[in-house]
Amino acid sequence: MRYVSTRGAAPPVSFLDAVLAGLAPDGGLYVPESWPALPDIAATGHYAGVAMQVLKAFAGESLDDANCAKLTTQAYIDPPSSMDADWRAKWPETVTSLAHIGPGDWVLELFHGPSLSFKDVAMQLIGPLFDYALTQRNEKLSVICATSGDTGGAAVEAIKGSARSDLFVLMPKGRVSDVQKRFMTASGAENVHAIDIEGDFDACQAIVKTLFADRDFSKRARLSGVNSINWARIVAQSVYFHVAAYTLRAPGAVNFIVPTGNFGDAFSGFVAKMCGAPIGKIALATNANDILSRALKTGRYERAAQSHATLSPAMDIQVASNFERILFEAVGRDGAMVKRLYDQFAQSGGFDIPAPALAFLREHFDAAAVSDEETQETMGAYWNDGHFGYLACPHTAVGLHARSKLEAPLDAPLVTLATAHPAKFPDTVEEATGVRPPLPAKCADLFERKEKVDVLPNDAEAVKRYIAERSRAWA
Ligand SMILES: *Cc1c(COP(=O)(O)O)cnc(C)c1O
Repeated sequence: MRYVSTRGAAPPVSFLDAVLAGLAPDGGLYVPESWPALPDIAATGHYAGVAMQVLKAFAGESLDDANCAKLTTQAYIDPPSSMDADWRAKWPETVTSLAHIGPGDWVLELFHGPSLSFKDVAMQLIGPLFDYALTQRNEKLSVICATSGDTGGAAVEAIKGSARSDLFVLMPKGRVSDVQKRFMTASGAENVHAIDIEGDFDACQAIVKTLFADRDFSKRARLSGVNSINWARIVAQSVYFHVAAYTLRAPGAVNFIVPTGNFGDAFSGFVAKMCGAPIGKIALATNANDILSRALKTGRYERAAQSHATLSPAMDIQVASNFERILFEAVGRDGAMVKRLYDQFAQSGGFDIPAPALAFLREHFDAAAVSDEETQETMGAYWNDGHFGYLACPHTAVGLHARSKLEAPLDAPLVTLATAHPAKFPDTVEEATGVRPPLPAKCADLFERKEKVDVLPNDAEAVKRYIAERSRAWA
């Protein structure tokens, strides 16, 4: 399996090259040359087994069967300590679980990993995958990651203690929740560097971009990323769509609602569908940062004047980086067209989606934006008034509310993705429901652990110096 760029002007590369590179040299994102057919793979095994087959199909000649099996075992079975002990005892062979909240109505819980967000599902695989690739090549890496909260914690849990990777996490100072922050600062690992940037999330992301754009620096630091454009994350996340769709199918397809920011999780659902999973519509649920729902409604993909701080901070994202991947599909894989549209976007902050592409998007997706008031109301309603007393995190609540605002109602079975554990946002949950969710046993001591964090100004040069002094990959 080879990987091509969405902007059509980079040579095809192998799976591992695509994963280690992140962005393609022409500025595009890597996508597979073709979609492997994997109908009903979920029939044949437990979660790690399905993950193994999906990885094998997408890795192609990059990984042999034995290594695919080893890596997925490491990610999803091996370190039982990284998963909630109570939860494992209940569903020993499952990584994600379906909660029944009404007739034909399900929540797919993806937050049982070590940092309590769905990002663990992919990151737990990326950790061993990076180590494998680096050992093969006898290389070291500086992994850099800008986070609005959850990516950082999941990356820390995946990379802490790695012999070959150092992790540099940039978070906006004062803008992540205490629980989120602790997952980044209290790992106790020498190779993890948590950095408070005096700026907002966009500033953190801009620094990361500047560092990658500095060819000399990024080469000397052996810089790599684990953000949601990383192809391995998309592959790993497509697994739970296969598993859930297979579990609930009959008589027809299963519809999904996906709380979304960068369009990563939603694109993973599309990938599973392209591989043959029985998936109908994928509905995008955004908060007030609604570029995706506006794009689907109006046909214009346009950056808003400003970003909004909401109750679902992991989705406070202005520009949905993975949208480029679906646009590539929607325009019939015409890389030159994607480049033209994104050049327009860089210049003027927006572009009109060509009519046939818009029709393609509307065929596979629907979308709705949900306000903070609606989010809060929904959390209260799901906890207090029926629905099996479901306690949802604010991101999940955005998804639960979105169904009432879609263009066309979705038939059962309907699965809403639960992307974070409610205990990750205790203040918001308590205000909306009256209950303060406790941390699960595996991380109950989070606030007793020792913190390590450095503060740096909103200045790419300062971050470069910081990394140069600490990275084991520096040459
Ligand atoms: C990252 C995140 C999202 C958004 O996921 P994307 O793949 O960026 O769309 C939603 N909810 C939570 C809790 C997250 O951490």
